[in-house]
Amino acid sequence: MLQQTQVKTVIPYFEKFIKKYENFNSLSKASENKILKLWEGLGYYRRARNLLATSKIIVKKYNSKLPRRIDEIKTLPGIGDYTSNVLAALIYNTPTLALDGNVKRVISRILNKEINKINFKHFKNINKKNLFNTNRNADFVEAMMEFGALVCNAKIPKCEMCPFKKNCRFYNSKKKIKQIKKEIINKNLNIFCYLSKKGEIALTKKNSLGFLNEFNLPKVETNKCNTNFKNWKLLSKYKNFISNKKLNINLYYQFSENIPSNYSWYSIKNNNEFMPSFTKKIFKQVSVLF
Ligand code: SF4
Repeated sequence: MLQQTQVKTVIPYFEKFIKKYENFNSLSKASENKILKLWEGLGYYRRARNLLATSKIIVKKYNSKLPRRIDEIKTLPGIGDYTSNVLAALIYNTPTLALDGNVKRVISRILNKEINKINFKHFKNINKKNLFNTNRNADFVEAMMEFGALVCNAKIPKCEMCPFKKNCRFYNSKKKIKQIKKEIINKNLNIFCYLSKKGEIALTKKNSLGFLNEFNLPKVETNKCNTNFKNWKLLSKYKNFISNKKLNINLYYQFSENIPSNYSWYSIKNNNEFMPSFTKKIFKQVSVLF
């Protein structure tokens, strides 16, 4: 739930979810629709589907218990390096690190190496130097994340109060590494909405937008600067930010009874289905035409 989503947003969803499905067994028996309903509003529904698929695998293959080995945890749907390490540490007290942005920054500063060059290889080197000289590995993983957020923070690290400053190469170096800003990717999108007089919009899953490819969307074309499309009327121009992508959108529409075969009609009023805010924004704009 926390992927790309703030803690304060997640808390009420998490509490409701855990009340309904308190273990892998109950979750594995749930229908996808019920899970998506509980997830409604959180977005990124792939996480919910992955969670459900994971619960089924854990019940069937691992006797309802999360496997202990990090490489085994990593084979579960939607689980990568970060999540597998954090789960192993928090649940089994495995000595490891969860390399989120904060922890990467701490390590990059201690080694005075650029953050995009920090990976598990560095962490293994640090490991040899007795970083894990504790039996509280679960606390250690959390402490590193908090340390990165509160002390060795992105803007002004609090070096004077830092217990690592004696050994920190960033603090002690005259040639300090520079912080790399998150790259913003600009994308131009033309969105074409087929509308019916009954207040419907035609949507399809056949879009090549990797970051939204599980959703029903209107016709979307990328990176075309042309703004003069025959039969299509321009409704609006707006920007939509998704993660590190800045989408410059031209929204077009036409009323038509005929739509391509891989499209289906959806009522504009029916905007509370499991759709991303990206689609909801489109619904809101075309609704002024009815
Ligand atoms: S000394 Fe400063 S830069 Fe180094 S780890 Fe501590 S807070 Fe971060």
